[in-house]
Amino acid sequence: IVYPTGNIYMRDGFFIFRVRPLSKKENFQSEVVQFPGNGQILIDAIPGGPGGGQKPKLFSYNVVFEPAATQEDVLQFSGMKRLIEMAVEGFRCTCFCYGQTGSGKTHTLTGPPGLFGVKSVPYSDKHGLIFRSFAYLFEQIQLQAGTHFVLKASYLEIYNEKVIDLLNPGSARKPLAVRWSKKARGFFVENLFTVDCEELDDLMAVLEEGMRNRSVGRHNMNDYSSRSHTILSVHITSEQPAENGVFISRTGKINFVDLAGSEMTKKTQSRGKTLEEANNINKSLMVLGYCISSLSDIKKKSNHIPYRDSKLTKLLADSLAGNGVTLMIACISPAKSNISETINTLRYAARAK
Ligand code: ADP
Ligand code: MG
Repeated sequence: IVYPTGNIYMRDGFFIFRVRPLSKKENFQSEVVQFPGNGQILIDAIPGGPGGGQKPKLFSYNVVFEPAATQEDVLQFSGMKRLIEMAVEGFRCTCFCYGQTGSGKTHTLTGPPGLFGVKSVPYSDKHGLIFRSFAYLFEQIQLQAGTHFVLKASYLEIYNEKVIDLLNPGSARKPLAVRWSKKARGFFVENLFTVDCEELDDLMAVLEEGMRNRSVGRHNMNDYSSRSHTILSVHITSEQPAENGVFISRTGKINFVDLAGSEMTKKTQSRGKTLEEANNINKSLMVLGYCISSLSDIKKKSNHIPYRDSKLTKLLADSLAGNGVTLMIACISPAKSNISETINTLRYAARAK
């Protein structure tokens, strides 16, 4: 399979798509997503065709991963490697996974369920983009023998506009405050635990520990994870010796964001707590889409970008503004039963572009 990557200029807020295979449960269903090639997705049965029937619709993007694509394909052909290189060069970079619950966000970022937990599986072809990116990050660092690098990682969850530290559950899941730092001219999470990472295994331990803590004490993990965003961040500082004993120092960052399920945005019949949650998710995904579209629109860039409107966009503001770089992986189910959510995802991507 060839993935047309074209001339990717990723600063513009770059969208790619991954369509997962039908699941065992969906096997009796027909697939409504087809791949004519050249980064196109054809949905073959959109309601509202002539005579109340259904009509096909073609969506065009830069990169589309078909169901047969492997985890390694996603690293190699998504632009992710360039994103890591840019983070090493000192840019603030973010990789998002967007899509309805069950579309493959967590599978793409971390891997299938059961990979981490009580007993971790050795590294395999099942491991997702985060592990592969970490490995690539260390390859890049090792290429620069003279430069001194310091890596620090953190892992948090935003649930109902509350920030919870996934590396420090000892604080009894007490929400942490998001504050503005005058000095750093950016938002930060107060008292967030950060871990020094000297080798690949340290970064992997952060991922595993955070995933373990995320699932602890939750009766319905899937329900919960569909309503929260997680952000795994790696801060990369480097000092490169230059002439006359002077050092060039750089501070880059790479965030991996597993977004809340996008289907929450439409469920208006929810009540009480669920409604509040739905509204918060709705708002943060909307604000995010707007911020990303502002990235590629120079006119909007000079205007007000509303990243103060949600915790998610506040914490990612440095990636969403100025010198930030974003890569958005929109995850899609090919099943007929998911067609309306699939169309919503394709449209969100078009809007945010
Ligand atoms: P989400 O995080 O978007 O809610 P998941 O990543 O949990 O969705 O995916 C739902 C199910 O589908 C999981 O069992 C996952 O392993 C499986 N799945 C998702 N994407 C793929 C893929 N590309 N190949 C094989 N299985 C996948
Ligand atoms: Mg998930």
